[in-house]
Amino acid sequence: MTRGRAAPGEGKLPVASPATVRAEARRLIRRHRRSLTGVIALYVGSAVAGLAGPLLLGALVDAVAGGTTSGYVATVSLAMLGFLTVQSVLRRFAVRSGMVFGERVFAELREDFLEQVTALPLSTVEKAGTGDLVARTTNDIDAVSHTVRFGVPQVVVSAVTIVLTLAVAVLTSPVLSAALLVGIPLLYPVTRWYLRRSSDGYQRERESYAVVNGTITESIEGARTVDALSLGGIRRQGMDDALGVSYGVERYTLWLRSVLFPAADLAFWLPVAAVLLWGGWLASNDVVTPGAVAAVALFAVRLIDPVDLLIMWTDEIQVGAASLARIIGVQDVAPDREATDAVPTNEDILVSNVTYAYRPGQDVLHGIDLSLRRGERLAVVGPSGAGKSTLGRLIAGIHPPTTGSVTVGGVPLVDRPLDQLRREVALVTQEHHVFVGSLADNVRLGRASATEAELAEALNDVGALAWALALPDGLETEVGSGALELTPAQAQEVALARLVLADPHTLVLDEATSLIDPQAARDLERSLSAVLEGRTVIAIAHRLHTAHDADRVAVVEGGRITELGSHDELIALDGAYASLWRSWRTE
Ligand code: ADP
Repeated sequence: MTRGRAAPGEGKLPVASPATVRAEARRLIRRHRRSLTGVIALYVGSAVAGLAGPLLLGALVDAVAGGTTSGYVATVSLAMLGFLTVQSVLRRFAVRSGMVFGERVFAELREDFLEQVTALPLSTVEKAGTGDLVARTTNDIDAVSHTVRFGVPQVVVSAVTIVLTLAVAVLTSPVLSAALLVGIPLLYPVTRWYLRRSSDGYQRERESYAVVNGTITESIEGARTVDALSLGGIRRQGMDDALGVSYGVERYTLWLRSVLFPAADLAFWLPVAAVLLWGGWLASNDVVTPGAVAAVALFAVRLIDPVDLLIMWTDEIQVGAASLARIIGVQDVAPDREATDAVPTNEDILVSNVTYAYRPGQDVLHGIDLSLRRGERLAVVGPSGAGKSTLGRLIAGIHPPTTGSVTVGGVPLVDRPLDQLRREVALVTQEHHVFVGSLADNVRLGRASATEAELAEALNDVGALAWALALPDGLETEVGSGALELTPAQAQEVALARLVLADPHTLVLDEATSLIDPQAARDLERSLSAVLEGRTVIAIAHRLHTAHDADRVAVVEGGRITELGSHDELIALDGAYASLWRSWRTE
């Protein structure tokens, strides 16, 4: 049986195409259409109230020029104050609802992402390396969060303000409003020029910082080696080079800014000057009133901030979109298995003619056949790199075999629904993560429906109940990072208690005890033997007494099982196992 590879390319996680990102953005907008409309309505209200100021001022100018009462001036001033208040109040609610909107969308994105990440085939995660995934869960999520929380509301506000201001200016005086556009011939090309270069420039700037940091950290961490091999000069040279590059890129982006900022400033104030000059001429020829000139000039000033914000965010939104592409790209990973509803007829594991390649064409396992009876103990021994762990992972159903099959009761392991597979076969390694939460929650990860009594029993089975009850709040004590830190041996016992609850009929033990100190290891072995009781066990053995106690021993060399039999049979065979055993005995 041949199965397709999970991820394309060199095992890298996929990045979504721009079309997918746009579709996703549209989907988000559609799903939140009501709240987004609400936010925009509030901003529009606030912007409209803000436009009253210049209009009223213009009216006041004309009234004063034409002669008016102080009562009229006071009324108009009060009206201006009123509109200002309405503008501020609306804006407060607009900002608030914008923020809430951003948080909600962002929380949803993050939840979806976490769901996808936890559903990723383990083999894909391993192939892609955790670095990429960690970068996506941290840097990319941060970038998107920044864009969604601040960028989207700011862009909406700016766009709404610009459109409304221009509209009201045109209504006030179309001929005068033409002067508002004089900045565009300067602003447009300069901004385009800047945006074309900026994201690449800032990207290189960030990369150069990473190199500088890396060089420093490396020199400090390897200080002894640097000293011992007199590498000081070379390291200094490396640092100088890194700083040189960094200096160069910083100068480049500084140059970009030194062109953009003055040009943008000029482009912002040109319309104001143009309105005043053009308006002055028009007013002196009685085409417009001085009040209209005052109002449109104020509109020109009011356009500066939103245009500025819009330019700034165009840049940042590109960064956010690139990150979003990486985040939603994760959903393009093809599953490495599809569950069927075939039900195993028994609990025997059968490995037939299995090969496995991490990279296409480079098989690390060749034609493995192995059958395990229910309740049997098999020790797997052999030199490092022989393929023992890989075999263990195939038997635990973590990787689908490249060719051949691994079945339980006649059904391929990778055809079993994941939640059921984990109740049938479990892999026990040295990695035991204690999650932040109560001890009880941590053990319940083995089986969510476990009762208090079952929890206590599981902990008791692995010899952990005594210390667990002695914790400040017993089983309800908060553990994990930031709370009570368990010792490595305790963490391992918690992991074993989870296994007792999950109650799989087959266990694959990979180097389960080798990293712990001998005393702890002996305690743990006792706990372990309670867990192993009555289950099929495949133990990847590092100490040969495990092999001695096993029903059968498989010697793996170069990706093949070269010897298979009981300890006594293999000793009698006088092959690789016998010589391993002899050398271990005389150690
Ligand atoms: P053992 O457990 O006997 O030490 P492994 O099963 O870990 O052997 O490794 C078998 C071979 O597969 C080795 O050559 C190893 O380099 C390679 N290998 C192991 N894990 C990976 C991986 N994630 N990606 C690529 N090659 C791997």
